Amino acid sequence: MQKLESYIHGQWVVGSGEGVPMIDAVTGETIALSDTTGLDFDQALKYGRKKGEALRKMTFQERGNMLKKLALYLTKRKKQFYEISYRTGATKVDSWIDIEGGFGNLFANASLRKLFPNQPFDIEGSPIDLSRGGKFMAHHILVPKEGVAIHINAFNFPVWGMLEKCAVNWMAGMPAVVKPATNTAFLTEAVVREIINSGILPEGALQLISGSARSILDTVESQDVVTFTGSADTGRMLKSHKRLIEESVPFNMEADSLNASILGEDALPGTPEFNLFIKEVRNEMTVKCGQKCTAIRRIIVPENLVEDVQLALGKALDKVSIGDPRLKEVRMGALVSKDQVKEVQGRVQELTKTANLVYGNLEETKTIGADAKKGAFMSPIVLREDSPFDNPSVHETEAFGPVSTIMPYKDLDEAIQLSKMGKGSLVSSITTNNDVIARDYTIKAATHHGRILVLNRESAKQSTGHGSPLPMLVHGGPGRAGGGEEMGGKRGVKHYMQRCAIQGSPTTLTEITGIYQPKAAYKEAEKHPFAYHWEDIQPGMSLKTHNRTITDTDIVNFGNLTWDHFYAHTDITSLDGSIFEQRTAHGYFIISAAAGLFVYPNKGPVAANYGLEEIRFLRPLYHNTTINVRLTCKEKVDRDQKGKELPSGIVKWYVEVFDVNAIEEEDKLVAIATILTMVQKKQTTFKE
Ligand code: NDP
Repeated sequence: MQKLESYIHGQWVVGSGEGVPMIDAVTGETIALSDTTGLDFDQALKYGRKKGEALRKMTFQERGNMLKKLALYLTKRKKQFYEISYRTGATKVDSWIDIEGGFGNLFANASLRKLFPNQPFDIEGSPIDLSRGGKFMAHHILVPKEGVAIHINAFNFPVWGMLEKCAVNWMAGMPAVVKPATNTAFLTEAVVREIINSGILPEGALQLISGSARSILDTVESQDVVTFTGSADTGRMLKSHKRLIEESVPFNMEADSLNASILGEDALPGTPEFNLFIKEVRNEMTVKCGQKCTAIRRIIVPENLVEDVQLALGKALDKVSIGDPRLKEVRMGALVSKDQVKEVQGRVQELTKTANLVYGNLEETKTIGADAKKGAFMSPIVLREDSPFDNPSVHETEAFGPVSTIMPYKDLDEAIQLSKMGKGSLVSSITTNNDVIARDYTIKAATHHGRILVLNRESAKQSTGHGSPLPMLVHGGPGRAGGGEEMGGKRGVKHYMQRCAIQGSPTTLTEITGIYQPKAAYKEAEKHPFAYHWEDIQPGMSLKTHNRTITDTDIVNFGNLTWDHFYAHTDITSLDGSIFEQRTAHGYFIISAAAGLFVYPNKGPVAANYGLEEIRFLRPLYHNTTINVRLTCKEKVDRDQKGKELPSGIVKWYVEVFDVNAIEEEDKLVAIATILTMVQKKQTTFKE
């Protein structure tokens, strides 16, 4: 029997043991053997750390483009993965979530490149002035960690589970060692094989252990990051691993979560919300056979609607056909393994010590196109717990399959209390068309849930659903859910970077961060900064303009031109009691006049004015005040070449408008702004 290979240390390898069979969830046939006996995990970790340098050196833009390229490459080859995915018991829809959901993560993370500076590390937040004179300041930077990201994954999402994590650590500049669950490692392996074949990632950015790896944490080091998705028992055991504690290795855990969905009191039968709720619960119970960390396990409904919900949900579940996931008419495939079916049945038996089984059958499952005895099939099971405050089992026992429990609440406070009895979950949802209820639930329940979806007729069509973690949103939850956090756009990337507060003079910090810091020394430009191409512009490059006196007439004219006749500009008899002492220039006039002073009129590499990012009017500017302007390059942001347009990048310019004759130093600065220009690169021809 063929053995599944692992990819470590730049090679495809197999273990030297007998191997563990990986079983087709639908037919019960053995697909291949998983064998990691004798593989040197320590060597893999060391190799990753060393080779990770290539990723660390890349800029965010380069990493993002790499992810996009990889996503496109894999999308072109997706068909083969669907074929393999059926063998995990997944239907086409289930596989779409896993496979294309995974590729979607690569795309989404690739887009984050636009939010990061054009360098290998990030600069976080605003500069912090630590002195009165402005010559000592601080900033926070985040640099890629020098270790490896070790991902220990669950069986339910062999592709998404890998890529939702790897996309993020690659974006941060860290390599990964992926250890999928043994059951479904054959699908992960197929995707990794294509990734390696593509040659898009630098060597060492991805290693794969296709099966058991009990000693993988024995040699982790402080620069590594470990993530875990799976059962709470294993998670807790790994979290307390001696080596993790000794080396203070971050451990991100995502485990059991008894996610609750609430039906609002307003959502009576016949309303769109009632129907939406039933549909959502049915989907969450049956997609991936309920083997989703975000699936709805607790259905919390107003006590007078319990019967209606039970009936409607039963009807909806009656339409769910079970069987060979390849068949179009099949809505629910098989669980991952017969062992998992037994495991779930055991949990149901645990739950039925207090709850009643009101839908489904543990003994027998009707299947289409597949032998129910050979495959890991199971019918959806609905339980009903009428005393959810007295019987905590429904809030604690995770049956990781198509199983969910209906329970009643008297008022919203009770619903909130019940949702919290899960002691922390990944997601909760409430279906209501009453935003007072939505607000109350959200604010009061948010302590216990990583994400809350509010579903109603307005959001329904475009809603991504209760069960879909999204790359731009945080995925993780407090307490029972593991206390971890994954994804979440930029937030997720930062988990793989080390934050460091740096202190020094603004001039030094400008050099370190590559971003001009206010009060840093200016680098006087030899010619007008707008006369340089993108490559030749450097942060700090600066121009001081000539002076201009703002007259009374200027202000009146600007008012007439724009129709902005605010009293401070037009009526000097009404200034008593206001913050203005004389006729005051319009803020927009100051900025326009500043542009008039700093703009380079000749045709040059500046292709366009792109907009403004920040603008502050720091003090009133009165008529007869003379101003001048400092135009200083703040930051450069590279951009992709679009279509046939000439290559260009964005330059952010820091604009300071000064009152030339102000006596006090602190009165000199009148206004600041950051303007954006699109500046052409030296390369002047279109590059394919
Ligand atoms: P496990 O916790 O047993 O396994 C999860 C991962 O951890 C697998 O990759 C497993 O590898 C690995 N692992 C287990 N023990 C060790 C160890 N000592 N050292 C290193 N790695 C280890 O969960 P399962 O996937 O088997 O699922 C069991 C139950 O977990 C489910 O029935 C469900 O209740 C829950 N679960 C919850 C999820 C959630 O997100 N809420 C997701 C998935 C499962 P290997 O497969 O090789 O043993």
